Amino acid sequence: MRGARGPAALHSAVVPLVVSTRLAAIPHYEPGLTTAEVLARYGLEAAVKLASNESPYPPLPGVAEVVRDGVAGLNRYPDGAGRALRAALADLHGVDPGQIVLGNGSCELILLAGEALLDPGTCVVHADPSFALYPLAAATGARAVPVPLDDAGRNDLDAMAAAVDETTRLVIVCSPNNPTGGHVGADALERFLDAVPEDVAVLVDEAYHDFVTSPDRGRAMSMARERPNLLVLRTFSKAFGLCGLRVGYGVGARDWIDALDRVRQPFNVNALAQAAARASLDGLGELDRRVRTLVAERTRIEESLRMWGVPFTPSQANFILVEPGEARARGDAGVHEQLLRRGVIVRDGRALGVPGALRVSIGTPSENDAFLDALAGVLGDSGTTGTRHPLRAGEREGRTRP
Ligand code: PMP
Repeated sequence: MRGARGPAALHSAVVPLVVSTRLAAIPHYEPGLTTAEVLARYGLEAAVKLASNESPYPPLPGVAEVVRDGVAGLNRYPDGAGRALRAALADLHGVDPGQIVLGNGSCELILLAGEALLDPGTCVVHADPSFALYPLAAATGARAVPVPLDDAGRNDLDAMAAAVDETTRLVIVCSPNNPTGGHVGADALERFLDAVPEDVAVLVDEAYHDFVTSPDRGRAMSMARERPNLLVLRTFSKAFGLCGLRVGYGVGARDWIDALDRVRQPFNVNALAQAAARASLDGLGELDRRVRTLVAERTRIEESLRMWGVPFTPSQANFILVEPGEARARGDAGVHEQLLRRGVIVRDGRALGVPGALRVSIGTPSENDAFLDALAGVLGDSGTTGTRHPLRAGEREGRTRP
């Protein structure tokens, strides 16, 4: 009889759990180190975390209050249709609320797209290296078709269009791309959409849209108002600083919205997340100020790297992919490990499909100083850079510190 031998027998069971054969094709997600883990491992008292492309700022003014007020109503289910938030987003983007779908983070919408669109024998085309979740959209038994990036770290839209065949149901475009920060131009996107058959769904993941400074920013959203096969994904997790609450959304054609609505849980976005996202939309002026600071900081870091001759991919996101090269660090530890020892947590490129690289999120000016100081120390130790200091906050090339 099962269980008669008690819990000890259960723990020593030798018969493996029978799981879906589809699991074999699903890559294991390797989470980054938490601050607590880094402090304990290296005996540090403080560390800066620049590893998860989070906002270094708290939620926008007024949001904490709305969340506190919302606690009293948590005995009730949230509005499953997210009416108030969808109406506010519809207003913001000049679309009908019926063209908006809400998700438990944009991650959920990516997985739901796979569930709604893919069957065994079909495929999803996505860039590589790109966001690690995309192959998971194929968990329904479909095939994931990775397409290498172009030299600028952008999704190679010509190659992706060429990878589309009669089995393709979904193409995911990530712009700016995680982990490289490359942004595809609007004209290239338009050409790509013209090249892909209209019955193939295209999802443009714009999680990092707010940090784009290219003059054609926002054009994908205009296309989503008109194209029948396009869904543009945005999130409150990055610039808005709400990743702890989990809310993202898609804007697109009604067929897209209907497909995702059918497979989502009825109450997928919790009440506090809906209220916080709604309140965040009242703070777009402050959001803009914060984003400007982060973009200026991105430029400052890039200028320091350029000055030192450290290769990196110019970024349109709130992170930079830096390639200091493992060989350039002295001793047994690579650059990533040496930064950790100095209390600077960045993401190791190995886990992102770019071994030898580091993905560094843009933090506050003082957090970025900590990163630049630590990197200068590591590379200085290895004799890679001279004695020049990183640019401090507010400085530009030509005005280096003595
Ligand atoms: N898309 C991209 C490209 C991302 O990098 C991330 C988060 N790392 C997400 C989507 C998911 O964000 P969220 O689920 O928090 O909205």
